[in-house]
Amino acid sequence: MGRGGLIARPLLWGRRTPARNPTPPKIRHAWGLLHAHTQWPNILPLVWSGSLERGCQPRRRPRHLTVVQNYEVRPNIALVLLENGTIQSEEYSSATHVGTHMDAPAHFARGGLTIDQIPVHRFIAAAAIIDITARAQLDRDAEATVEDLLHWESITGQTLDETVILLKTGWGKKWNNRTDFFGTPENDATKLHFPGLAPDAATWLVENRNIYGIGTEALSIDKGATRTYPVHQTLLGHGIYGLENVANVDKIPIYGAKLYVMPMKIGRASGAPTRIIATYPIILDPPASSNLV
Ligand SMILES: [Zn+2]
Repeated sequence: MGRGGLIARPLLWGRRTPARNPTPPKIRHAWGLLHAHTQWPNILPLVWSGSLERGCQPRRRPRHLTVVQNYEVRPNIALVLLENGTIQSEEYSSATHVGTHMDAPAHFARGGLTIDQIPVHRFIAAAAIIDITARAQLDRDAEATVEDLLHWESITGQTLDETVILLKTGWGKKWNNRTDFFGTPENDATKLHFPGLAPDAATWLVENRNIYGIGTEALSIDKGATRTYPVHQTLLGHGIYGLENVANVDKIPIYGAKLYVMPMKIGRASGAPTRIIATYPIILDPPASSNLV
């Protein structure tokens, strides 16, 4: 049957509610009757705290290095507390491509949209979870292919149009191990190894579907071993935004979740730290003595 041919319901909808009232309510209102086995919503933040890019050396220039003018390396987000009596306030400085963040089209496409120019309706969209975890466990350089995209449409009955694709690779579990996450202990962009989207799949997407964005658990939507960033070039070149270092992708159902993508609105920026929230229904087991079925 191949990978993921059959999907058990709990897998499809992710984690069940950890604790439920053992006595099911006897009365449900009309909405509850219509959606007898669902409860809305789960809310899940898809954002890591902090960043792994800390400590990159400027001359080696690894991808997403926090390089600003004069190749000065900045810390991730430097927060300065300003105390004035009981009033708390801060100043901060930050690179734009660190932690969970958005790549605007301008990151790779000259003249492309900057963060502040992306139409906001593209920030609220259905999530399409493309799961290549099994392959990525065997091969750090695994790619999500056109077949994987079509497989998702086939098993869900949904289109990828107007979705934000999220690549599910298992990489989020490596977040607390920088070497494992990057695929190398070194600050050397030529030694990165992590999964990404196949270049052919990026081309297929821009020619056949209208997605708003694509996110990945890993450091880049291109796989780590790339040298030319073809996925960035193709997708960002067609106005599609990227989301990198996305958290908790393994907990979202493969379809049915809605994403709220909220990049910090930084004028003329090619990237921005981004809050992402996924909401999706909790599936409840019908009570044993249910008269709703
Ligand atoms: Zn980036």
